[in-house]
Amino acid sequence: MHTAKHIEIDEEPKRGRGWLIALAVVVVAAALGFGGYLFWLQRDVVVYLNGEPVEIRFRSTFADICDKAGVVPEAGDLYSITDQLITDGGGEPYTVQLDGRELSEKECASVIVEGEESFTVVNGDDVTEGSEVVERETAPRLVPADGLGAVTFVSQWGTSGLSRYRVGSVSGEEVLEEVVQEPGDCVLSSVNPVPSDGQALVCLTFDDGPSSYTADVLCILEEKHAVATFFALGSSVAGWSDMIQQLENAGCEVLSHTMNHQDNYAISSEDTYRETVDAFDALRDYAGVYTTVIRPPYGNWNNNCWISARGTVSASVIWTIDSRDWELPGADAIVKNCTSNVGNGDIILMHDGGGDRSQDIEALPRIIDELHKQGYRLVTLSELMDSDYRIPDEIASQYAPMPEGCSWPTELAE
Ligand SMILES: [Zn+2]
Repeated sequence: MHTAKHIEIDEEPKRGRGWLIALAVVVVAAALGFGGYLFWLQRDVVVYLNGEPVEIRFRSTFADICDKAGVVPEAGDLYSITDQLITDGGGEPYTVQLDGRELSEKECASVIVEGEESFTVVNGDDVTEGSEVVERETAPRLVPADGLGAVTFVSQWGTSGLSRYRVGSVSGEEVLEEVVQEPGDCVLSSVNPVPSDGQALVCLTFDDGPSSYTADVLCILEEKHAVATFFALGSSVAGWSDMIQQLENAGCEVLSHTMNHQDNYAISSEDTYRETVDAFDALRDYAGVYTTVIRPPYGNWNNNCWISARGTVSASVIWTIDSRDWELPGADAIVKNCTSNVGNGDIILMHDGGGDRSQDIEALPRIIDELHKQGYRLVTLSELMDSDYRIPDEIASQYAPMPEGCSWPTELAE
């Protein structure tokens, strides 16, 4: 009993040391284990990228793998319908598969590898932008006249064509897909009128009026049983509408000399259009004269002017004989200029406005007498044009608006 008691007492310190040893062993083991764990975490593993092994630190990311392997996954590019690059990387995105399963972008970003994973990267395809097909009318082209005569006119009106275009939805590029209908050219012709059937015709023309001289001109014409053609300034029409009416009642003709006598070579295309249209409107609204014929100031009217007028003009008429009355050379010189070298179909330029026209008034009776003596009949411009078979009847009528269904050129034919 006593002994047992002694032994019990003796064993107490032994048991305490055992605990300490066990604790030490556990601590050492834990330290070793933790160290081993740390070492284990730092180890390299092998993964596969597009079938190639890549040695990489355990728990690396997909981006780390790509860096290590020198692989840059690329999205495709976005191209326009004419193959111009629009956006680098704007095409199909690249895809990444992990062990045969496609990863979302988010999944791909959160991948942590442990080894033996197999990644497949497929670069994105290039993409062509979307597009739509639109149909659009195409303007006819203007075919200029061969040479320059005194009368230039539309011998054939143009018609619109129809074409299909593919339009890029991002770039806005347009590519012609199909010409459904070719436009019909607008064609100009230019002639010096030649009366047919043996007629001997001359046309007297007066520019820059009406003015206070116009009544005198009309009086002489009526006295001599002659007619003439007056190219009136649109800006003067409102104040002289009665005079214009008298001219027409006497069998004379009133056409347009544009609105404000601008030089069409010196003004904008828009201004040429306005100068032309405003004068036609003034003649119609104030004097009841319907015409689509102009005499351009200074005779300046070229193919660009034709385009600028947008189909409002059917004929542009200059002259074949210049009286040179604007030099105020005296009545004798004006008579000589107008009568000494006249041929059949001539168009003579005189003035009934724009300054002192007393020399014209003095010369006019002698001019008419002399032309009559030479066997010419004095006619209006429409009668002269009508006498030439090359000029269509509706153009010769001096009022030939562009027919319904036709359209005007926006550029010259090459
Ligand atoms: Zn003039």
